[in-house]
Amino acid sequence: MRNLLQDCQFNNCMHLEEPGCAIKAAVIAGDIAAERYASYVTILDSMNE
Ligand SMILES: [Zn+2]
Repeated sequence: MRNLLQDCQFNNCMHLEEPGCAIKAAVIAGDIAAERYASYVTILDSMNE
């Protein structure tokens, strides 16, 4: 998962709603399991609090 996140072209991308995000595209394409992305978002949420 960490390597996949680094595939994103944007250094500061949160991989949430950014247009052109490689991670979002990979989730939609099925290259990243939706549940793995969901857990990433959950971790991100907890870090933002
Ligand atoms: Zn991204």
